[in-house]
Amino acid sequence: MRAKKSFGQHFLHERGYIERIVAAIAPRAGDRLVEIGPGEGALTLPLLDAAGALTAIELDTDLIPQLEARARDHGKLTIVHADVLTVDFTALAAGGRLRLAGNLPYYISSPILFHCLEHADAIADMHFMLQKEVVDRMAAAPGSKVYGRLSVMLQLACRVEPLFRVPPGAFRPPPKVDSAVVRLVPLPPAQRPQVDAQRLATVVKAAFGQRRKTLGNALKGVLDEAAIRGAGVDPRARAETLAPADFVRLAAAPAA
Ligand code: SAM
Repeated sequence: MRAKKSFGQHFLHERGYIERIVAAIAPRAGDRLVEIGPGEGALTLPLLDAAGALTAIELDTDLIPQLEARARDHGKLTIVHADVLTVDFTALAAGGRLRLAGNLPYYISSPILFHCLEHADAIADMHFMLQKEVVDRMAAAPGSKVYGRLSVMLQLACRVEPLFRVPPGAFRPPPKVDSAVVRLVPLPPAQRPQVDAQRLATVVKAAFGQRRKTLGNALKGVLDEAAIRGAGVDPRARAETLAPADFVRLAAAPAA
């Protein structure tokens, strides 16, 4: 079947990388595995072999019949035909915790990550293939050129563990960029910031929206300078020098 660009389809075909991803996930019988974008089943079938059951969320109708046929002798596959951004993981978990996996469609990888964070309580862990550049941003430390909104929001919610790089040649068709696999483990609720999530998102977005400006300027209309100082942050600093915890204190400060 021809890969569709509009669905971000790049099918993994190199067995060595498929095995490394499955080994990193280490699926066990009884795991509540959910795969995002199963495609032609490169990861689905070995995961099914190990876990016995899996729910796969796929948007492309054309891929579903062959996936069902291929999975027949591998285990119990439940296919949800939907856009993953509309899937309620909390409802799907039904009180348990899901293990998410997927070679994600890169055109919506950030929205998928933020969607997963909204359901962090229902997720045990996530193993995702992403553009390497996105994994670098997720794991970046303050002061790095690629440290930004994604780094802060992900690191406040999860342990971020970059695992290994995957070259374009491992996929058909090859993407234009390098890829990497990352493990994300949501932090226990007590270790997550005790601030309003919406407010935190607003402050982080504004701070990095104009990353060359000082915080005092970038946060105009969101926080005044006195409140920034009250949170223990210098209004003359730039967002890229702040630790994730600094953003939590800014989000807890009285609004402008
Ligand atoms: N897992 C397969 C593999 O590794 O070969 C396919 C990976 S391919 C990069 C991404 C998959 O996500 C495709 O099967 C594509 O159809 C599917 N997809 C794209 N957008 C989606 C969405 N919004 N919701 C669910 N699946 C989506």
